[in-house]
Amino acid sequence: MSEELTAHEEAADEPVVSLENVSVEFDTGQSLVDRLRGERNVVRAVHDVTLDIGENEVVALVGESGCGKTTLGKTAIGLQEPTSGTVRYRGQDIEAAKAGRGDIPYGRIRPKLQIIHQDPGSSLEPQRTVQAILADPLKRWYDGMSATERKQYLVQFLQAVGVTPAENYLTRYPHQLSGGEQQRVALARALLMQPELILADEAISALDVSLRVDMMDLLLELQERFATSYLFISHDISNARYLAEKADGRIGIMYLGELVEIGPVEEIIENPQHPYTQVLMWASSSITDYDRPIEEPPLRDIDVPDPTDPPSGCSFHTRCPEAREACTERTPELQQMAGTETACFWAQGDPEYEGSAPLGDENED
Ligand code: SF4
Repeated sequence: MSEELTAHEEAADEPVVSLENVSVEFDTGQSLVDRLRGERNVVRAVHDVTLDIGENEVVALVGESGCGKTTLGKTAIGLQEPTSGTVRYRGQDIEAAKAGRGDIPYGRIRPKLQIIHQDPGSSLEPQRTVQAILADPLKRWYDGMSATERKQYLVQFLQAVGVTPAENYLTRYPHQLSGGEQQRVALARALLMQPELILADEAISALDVSLRVDMMDLLLELQERFATSYLFISHDISNARYLAEKADGRIGIMYLGELVEIGPVEEIIENPQHPYTQVLMWASSSITDYDRPIEEPPLRDIDVPDPTDPPSGCSFHTRCPEAREACTERTPELQQMAGTETACFWAQGDPEYEGSAPLGDENED
């Protein structure tokens, strides 16, 4: 094994990745009027997120499509530069490492933070065989390996992810694999680097329902075997629950770019404190509870606000059934509640919230 790929022992007591007050904004273009006024049009993809991911930890991020969870994940592994705030690997500022500053060079960090995408078909080069796809990162990061050692090494990893007999797959192209096999090859490619964190970005969403549990079980088995952490991103709280519960991990809930609640799985599932987490739990139980009558979700408004123009105060106030006037003026911060950290005045028993008037139903005339 190459020296460059061994863990940075001096920093072993630091979290694998830590995000501190991280925000990410994207310019959405300026009209002539905006330019004349000197105004920027920005979408706030991630807003002021602080999160540590420890060794061998599973953190599942859940939220609706467009809530910023993928952007946050990519920022956590150094693929997206934050607009403000800091992302550290083992205590080393990743952006500083990219600029050549700090104790751990970026060349050591990059292989340790890997990603598997929702659609493995598009992330595996179509004109290359499985062997060529897997050999590429080995040539780059393990330059002392001979061709024979490389082949033996990647065969081991194909077997580890259940692509067997591995030799039969080496000369196949991605289009000759099933969706499940493609995802396993993508997983093998990530594991070759002996990563400390894998971002699994909706990695099971494109699979048939029957294959999802198999893939999550495989992720869990590999986590134990290779001692890696996962940042598992899903729009489906049931999947997040399955994976994080078995790994004794945490679930984080995102809404409009903010982390609004995070905690151990059983607390998030059994005792959610934030009204948005309660809505997600309501929606998930309505899918599995077939006897339950069809109801409207417990929201004041079903429409998600425009992320280029997020609501003032608490960004959930336009939809929240517990919203009061105070929620339109101040932004709640995460505070340790019963068993979770929750950003909600109602859950926190905030005195100003308690003394202000409830907001009406957005759908009322
Ligand atoms: S702060 Fe107010 S609007 Fe936001 S989630 Fe809590 S009760 Fe709802």
